[in-house]
Amino acid sequence: MTNKKTNNKYADYAEKLKIDCKNFSGLCCVSLYCAKTDGFPANKAAGTPCAYLDSDYGCNIHSKLSEKNYKGCIAYDCFGAGQRATKLCLSKGTWKTNPKQADMIFDTFMIVFQLHQMLWYLVEAFQLTTDNHLKLSIDKLIKENEQMSDLFPDNCPNTDLSEYRLKVNTVLKQISNEISTSASADKHSGMMYLGKNFKKANLDGKDFTMSLLIAANFTGCSLKKTNFLGADIRDANVQDTDLSESIFLTQMQINSANGNKNTKLPGYLNIPISWIS
Ligand code: SF4
Repeated sequence: MTNKKTNNKYADYAEKLKIDCKNFSGLCCVSLYCAKTDGFPANKAAGTPCAYLDSDYGCNIHSKLSEKNYKGCIAYDCFGAGQRATKLCLSKGTWKTNPKQADMIFDTFMIVFQLHQMLWYLVEAFQLTTDNHLKLSIDKLIKENEQMSDLFPDNCPNTDLSEYRLKVNTVLKQISNEISTSASADKHSGMMYLGKNFKKANLDGKDFTMSLLIAANFTGCSLKKTNFLGADIRDANVQDTDLSESIFLTQMQINSANGNKNTKLPGYLNIPISWIS
């Protein structure tokens, strides 16, 4: 299986953008708002530590998240922003050792999360495009992204990502058009396919960008170069399905879908433990 995230000049980003809870200071378990509607048994206010966070920033119920109904935690992925933000804020301490700086540390995490999410897509986009002009634009955006992250935490209050996000979205749109034009003229982006049964359909090259695919059935579908950029695939059935050549998938999307040990994924994504246990 070709590893799209590692077979290019940004090979080292595959590890960099992977969640590493051991070097994290529990930022996601404290800073984020958790809602019942997002797969948590109860709401939790932003900035409040989860009751199950232990003194070493580990999760007391890690092996029982499903049993305890913490689906949101199983699906969550920070794109490596947790360890990056923890490292960037090291001189300030952590939210726990330096409560006065907690808000600034949380804000840093939130912004680095957004930067890393965009970085994730840019690295794949770089690999996908055959257009040298686009490759240069992506290179520039990746450099810009790194420069912005390195200015944290001191630059935190002044960071506005809207202009940068617009540039990233424009490039990703161009890549999506390039891919779907070369693979298939059919586009499904932004559509609602809640519970849709696609079973065994040929969906090669389809563009599902930002589509709602909750509980859709993809069993046995052909999904080569199928674009899942920002699509909501919670509870989608991908059992016995080959997603290895699908594009713009994230670990968070995969964690929220319903696969099994026969599901094939792109080499840069991990099979969720729940699929094999
Ligand atoms: S249940 Fe565990 S992983 Fe989820 S927020 Fe609490 S401590 Fe973090």
